[in-house]
Amino acid sequence: MVQQNRLGHALLFLGKEGSGALPMALAFAQYLVCENANENNDSCGTCSSCVKAGKLIHPDIHYSYPVITSKEFDKPISTNFIVKWREFIEKQPYGNLYDWLQFIEAENKQGNISRNECDEISKKMSLKSFESRYKMLIMWMPEMLGDQGNKLLKLIEEPPADTLFILVAENDKLILPTILSRTQLIKFAPLNKKDIAVALEKNEGLTAQKAEVVAAVSDGNYREALLQIQHSEDDWESMLRSWMNAILKGGPVAQVQWIDEMSKLGREKQKQFLKYFIHLIENAIKISVVGVSDNAENTEKQQALNDFALRLNKLCGIEQLEAIVKEIDLSSYHIERNANAKILFHALTIKIYHIISNKSVILIN
Ligand SMILES: [Zn+2]
Repeated sequence: MVQQNRLGHALLFLGKEGSGALPMALAFAQYLVCENANENNDSCGTCSSCVKAGKLIHPDIHYSYPVITSKEFDKPISTNFIVKWREFIEKQPYGNLYDWLQFIEAENKQGNISRNECDEISKKMSLKSFESRYKMLIMWMPEMLGDQGNKLLKLIEEPPADTLFILVAENDKLILPTILSRTQLIKFAPLNKKDIAVALEKNEGLTAQKAEVVAAVSDGNYREALLQIQHSEDDWESMLRSWMNAILKGGPVAQVQWIDEMSKLGREKQKQFLKYFIHLIENAIKISVVGVSDNAENTEKQQALNDFALRLNKLCGIEQLEAIVKEIDLSSYHIERNANAKILFHALTIKIYHIISNKSVILIN
């Protein structure tokens, strides 16, 4: 767009959580202010404009994001939280709104982009640019802009010359239609597994094998992938093995012991564990349909996955596996909504036992 001189003045970067729309918006803004961009097709990363953009202190790049009221600020604008914002971007560029609100200790408060912030934006964007040709506003989560956003319509529609709005959103259905219709939509697909695996290897120091496994269960969501590694020490594999043993051979005592252990782990880990299990079952279903691919490049990890799948396939047919996935999905849903973990895993254990041992599908709702 830049090279062909087709740059609109209001862009909407739309991408689901973890797709990298915000890091891309930041990189794009940096590219626009870079002094050597024409030579490179990318920002150089070293000129003084790039350095300032990278630190989020470039005077021509402004930011709007949801904030909360506090003791210090009863009519907060985004700039009140700029120090925190810079820190957040450095630490969690793939974070979501929840992460941000945690980061500024919002507790139960909902963030929003307020009327005051809209006035502030109008003021900022009517200034002349200081150092670069463009003057930009990156607005993150325009979903949190209520009717007050209508104050910005005229500005977005007929901005001063060389003014650029970059809106970064996850869900276009929650954006004011009046704003939405004035932007040029640029969609971001979820990241592909390969890119996630490469990034995990490079940035997080994972082995290629581990990176591949994490990437496979992250649904193209880099935030999710990073969450998965936080729990990488947890040996989901042995946790799963002991659960299956307790269900199939151990009886009630072993089951209760396992349930106790699992319920101590906390919601986030419980969800990760269930996700891991679903991933294995999906692999088992695939194998029962198309067989094991006889691939010399199969990693050790993949072979372990396949072994597990073959054993699972001896125990259950596809219908049973699907019934288990359904139950696990439902459990994940309830965990997210604060269900009691002990009762939940107890029920799930009993259901899986019945699904596997009766060789018929019994669903207890
Ligand atoms: Zn540069």
